[in-house]
Amino acid sequence: MMRKLLLWMARNAWLRNRLPKLWFAKRAIRRFMPGTDEGSALDAGVAFRADGITSMFTRLGENITRLEEGDEVAEHYIGLMGDIRARDLDGEVSVKLTQLGFDLDVERTLAHASRLAEKAAEYGKTFWVDMEGSAYAEGTVAFYERLKAAHPNTGLCLQAYLHRTAADIQRLMPLDPQIRLVKGAYAEPATIAYQTKHDVDANYVGLAVALLEGMRAGHKVRLGLGTHDVRLIEQIAQHAKAMGLPRTSVEVEMLYGIRMDQQRRLAKEGYLVRDLIAYGEAWYPWYMRRLAERPANVIFALRQMIG
Ligand SMILES: Cc1cc2nc3c(=O)[nH]c(=O)nc-3n(C[C@H](O)[C@H](O)[C@H](O)COP(=O)(O)OP(=O)(O)OC[C@H]3O[C@@H](n4cnc5c(N)ncnc54)[C@H](O)[C@@H]3O)c2cc1C
Repeated sequence: MMRKLLLWMARNAWLRNRLPKLWFAKRAIRRFMPGTDEGSALDAGVAFRADGITSMFTRLGENITRLEEGDEVAEHYIGLMGDIRARDLDGEVSVKLTQLGFDLDVERTLAHASRLAEKAAEYGKTFWVDMEGSAYAEGTVAFYERLKAAHPNTGLCLQAYLHRTAADIQRLMPLDPQIRLVKGAYAEPATIAYQTKHDVDANYVGLAVALLEGMRAGHKVRLGLGTHDVRLIEQIAQHAKAMGLPRTSVEVEMLYGIRMDQQRRLAKEGYLVRDLIAYGEAWYPWYMRRLAERPANVIFALRQMIG
């Protein structure tokens, strides 16, 4: 119930325009963001280096309404990759297609994504595409097929709560995909998505194993486990071991501010750990989805507003 309410609040345009302007809002977001500016995000990435944790960066924003905004976003990420490089960080970037103009002009979005992928390749990095609500699922997978065919150093997020994802993995396997597997952050109906934690978790393990099998069969798969569910991560790592694959065949990807103790522990134990650091002014829907994932966070957010 609470999850549904928070996800409805995330989509509500009236709240999106007003809530972030309230005086206490900036204090509340400290839980999941080191700051709204790029410099704070990069500083956080530098600090993680001491723990052996690498980074992924995203400037928050989605569903732009003017094409020129997409040009600015692409330009920003080109600059960001240079700044990551200048700080000698093992950092990658991940972007929402609707932030580049996917709702307005698919070809122009592809041109932006191709440019970003080329820049990432210049630095020996992967350029990542986020997955958004289910209305974008087919479009995003088809977009990734085109992008990946031209730019091998590109990765895509897939959501384990969607029924279609098992077929998407088989569809993408011939392309040697780089996949960040997540459970899924949006409100999706039972006709297309698993609804219970039990079912989503079971599918998550099945999908990860399918990707590992692809790896064992000789495909150049990169598998990022984008989850804070340590039990699942360790279960999948066991599967990898049983299949004769090294621990580094899976990469752990978690969000800034969530289960930091586990991120450090896993890095110490030899897992490849990457922390996704978000920044930017357009944090409202993203932040509300984080609250929805764990409604206890609402209490935490309220405390930060006051304290
Ligand atoms: C690196 C990364 C990239 C992502 N990219 C996308 C994307 O492109 N598209 C998309 O739809 N979703 C994305 N997500 C979000 C994802 O879909 C889930 O909504 C989110 O990760 C929460 O689910 P979980 O896998 O951690 O499992 P859960 O079963 O929700 O949580 C497992 C445990 O982790 C802890 N935990 C989880 N979330 C929180 C939280 N917000 N606050 C505090 N503790 C928490 C709790 O202890 C919980 O018991 C991404 C997540 C990560 C980590």
